[in-house]
Amino acid sequence: MPELPEVEVTRRRLERELVGKRFTQVVLRASKLRFPIPVELTTILPGRIVRSIERRGKYLLFDCECGWLLVHLGMTGFLQLLRGKPLPGKHDHLDFVFGDGHLLRFHDPRKFGIVTWFTGEPRQHPLLAGIGPEPLSGAFDGEYLFDSVRGRKVAIKQLIMNSAVVAGVGNIYANESLFRARIRPGRPAGTLALNECSELAAAIRYVLEKSIGEGSTYRVAEEAVAYYPQSFMVYGRGGEPCRLCQNPLDEIRLGGRSTVFCRRCQE
Ligand SMILES: [Zn+2]
Repeated sequence: MPELPEVEVTRRRLERELVGKRFTQVVLRASKLRFPIPVELTTILPGRIVRSIERRGKYLLFDCECGWLLVHLGMTGFLQLLRGKPLPGKHDHLDFVFGDGHLLRFHDPRKFGIVTWFTGEPRQHPLLAGIGPEPLSGAFDGEYLFDSVRGRKVAIKQLIMNSAVVAGVGNIYANESLFRARIRPGRPAGTLALNECSELAAAIRYVLEKSIGEGSTYRVAEEAVAYYPQSFMVYGRGGEPCRLCQNPLDEIRLGGRSTVFCRRCQE
């Protein structure tokens, strides 16, 4: 599933290629993904220019002069940046054609993605208004996190995966940041001290920035999307030796999600 780094890497790639480019055509081959795709995109967008491409949480926000195109990749969605008009394959639900010959194609086998249109301030859209601070912004730090955990009995891992607390921290980076901060994922959030919250906030920022710098696990390519395996510290490594102490890593389910940690290194 695309997480924040994947979406940010996609955003930067599309920003380089598409800002300043003019839509010439929108082709819909599906009527709905998670929600109906607005048919008016086919008439509103041709002739408009992409002014900027921003990100809020895991949403991509395309400023299209007269409104905003909001795109969420869902569970299995990705955006392919192509040239010309190659024939669509199965699950290629939507094409945005640009005057310079680029074609942006939305592919999504499970159709949990979102493509919608909004003419107001995009961060006030009902899907986005309740999202917490961006983890890479100055608004997210140890003190903010300490305020958020106070009195909470929920496991710290589930708390940091709640997008109302902090935007876009999914399962991979929750596992990795808790290992880096040496905090057990199942600890009740309210037991964290301020210094632990500061360690954790810094660890979240570190693992996300590192993944973005490495191109994340997932990239938009010219003709295909490739997954690049990364060397994670704990994610996907249950039963394997801890990279710090060689103790076999524990794997449990927490909130229905695979959770891997080291009982020696994390308290
Ligand atoms: Zn260890």
